[in-house]
Amino acid sequence: MDGQTSQGTRRPRSTPPHAIVIGSGFGGLAAAVRLGARGYKVTVLERLDAPGGRASVFRQDGFTFDAGPTIVTAPFLFEELWTLCGRRMADDVELREMNPYYRIRFHDGEVFTYSGDPEAMRAEVARISPDDVAGYEGFLKASEERFRIGFTELAHAPFGSVMDMLKVAPDLLRLSGYRSVYDLVAKHLRNERLRTIFSYHPLLVGGNPFAASSIYAMIAYLERHWGVHWAMGGTGSLVKGLVGLIEGQGNTVRCNADVARILVKDGRAVGVRLASGEELAADIVVSNADSAWTYRHLLAPEERHRWTDRKVERSRYSMGLFVWYFGTNRRYDDVTHHTIMMGPRYRGLLDDIFNRKILADDFSIYLHRPTATDPALAPEGCDAFYALVPVPNLDGGPDWTGPATEQFRQRVQRHLSATLLPGLEQSVVTSKVMTPLDFRDRYLSLKGAGFGLEPVLLQSAWFRPHNASEEVKGLYLVGAGTHPGAGMPGVLSSARVLDTVVPDAAALA
Ligand SMILES: Cc1cc2nc3c(=O)[nH]c(=O)nc-3n(C[C@H](O)[C@H](O)[C@H](O)COP(=O)(O)OP(=O)(O)OC[C@H]3O[C@@H](n4cnc5c(N)ncnc54)[C@H](O)[C@@H]3O)c2cc1C
Repeated sequence: MDGQTSQGTRRPRSTPPHAIVIGSGFGGLAAAVRLGARGYKVTVLERLDAPGGRASVFRQDGFTFDAGPTIVTAPFLFEELWTLCGRRMADDVELREMNPYYRIRFHDGEVFTYSGDPEAMRAEVARISPDDVAGYEGFLKASEERFRIGFTELAHAPFGSVMDMLKVAPDLLRLSGYRSVYDLVAKHLRNERLRTIFSYHPLLVGGNPFAASSIYAMIAYLERHWGVHWAMGGTGSLVKGLVGLIEGQGNTVRCNADVARILVKDGRAVGVRLASGEELAADIVVSNADSAWTYRHLLAPEERHRWTDRKVERSRYSMGLFVWYFGTNRRYDDVTHHTIMMGPRYRGLLDDIFNRKILADDFSIYLHRPTATDPALAPEGCDAFYALVPVPNLDGGPDWTGPATEQFRQRVQRHLSATLLPGLEQSVVTSKVMTPLDFRDRYLSLKGAGFGLEPVLLQSAWFRPHNASEEVKGLYLVGAGTHPGAGMPGVLSSARVLDTVVPDAAALA
């Protein structure tokens, strides 16, 4: 017998239902693996010439640069994908636990070594402020409590109805989810530097520590629980591994395929139209494109009731990112793999970035030196780096098409040369910059946001675009802009939610 496809044509019963995944970020790749394991025929359509999205890789002058994520937490979420394919992740990707996790360096040179070792952490806290050790323990407990609810219970639950939200409201109240991460940390710690060290985590998922719900304080415990890891060969090896899983399932990742429209018939997604005009039919469509872009540009306005153009435009978006990738013809062996360089201001700088949306004179930098762990990413005797600087998204900031970009790069270079990388001006041999404009034009991220919708309470869980679209049937969303949010654990979890909300392939056969 034949099955009825959503386009009304007949599909032979023996043919599995077809799922199209728009975008090959980690959310899209994980969704493809999960749907493939559940019996769908899957086609991933990626507009760029290589998979990975923000985690894509570029090679330049003998150096290998991961464009985006570098800190792997909650590795079990990756491992699960290999298990679903009857494989072991270790056969494809070697993960190494980092020790220390990172160094946090203040503008006057004081350094806090942040690790997963409880004794070493207590000693570091005591060195900065002996009176805060008990408060630190209290904060860790508070972080763990939020992890138990926020990660274990909420991150993998679909928030499809307002009832789902009401059910968790008592927990959110009890854990003071309406307070900011900074407020929670400040309740436990008195020293301002320690407050900075233990509250900055929301920035890793695009949030302002002074505005992100204190539920995000769970990240400190999440790191402690599963460790902080590095994928040897770079994060790109995880992308390559996932593409291998998808192809091993007999499915396809097609690059240079730019989706212009999600096709809808009788309130149901039935396929996509590419920018080239080609149409592809599908039984379900999963969008891993930026959720704001998906609704603003890929789904026709007449199909949208909640995510109208006005609502999309008026939502709050995460900060922009300025990323300078560079290689040096010498090694800086005393620089750790991950360094967070705090500027002289914390609250004021974040206010400039998130609220006033101006490019300030000062900045903080996350400096990535993968060659500390993985020398093969650069020619012998050389180092590969990137310097990531939070900046306003395209609602403000400078005109990045003009001289501002090179001027800003030079300021970052001067600062690094004067602090951790002496003589940098003379040793840079390769260089490339990404600004919020690249995030808009390359990844199609609305307002050039580094992490999609900003993670604030009223844009989280039920308030975020749902994983099972509330606009049309048969459309699903994964990735940073949907529930639970940005970061590799977040987007892998969004794909995990699909197991709950997408019907089994057999039900559509
Ligand atoms: C510089 C940087 C550093 C980061 N560091 C970390 C870190 O250390 N640890 C961590 O956990 N997280 C980190 N993050 C966050 C993390 O990288 C992201 O949240 C996550 O990778 C986003 O995945 P995603 O599934 O949302 O897809 P994305 O990576 O955003 O990919 C979406 C894909 O969809 C494609 N696409 C969009 N529209 C279309 C269309 N119309 N047709 C076809 N294809 C389309 C895009 O080209 C892109 O490839 C970092 C992010 C950045 C930018």
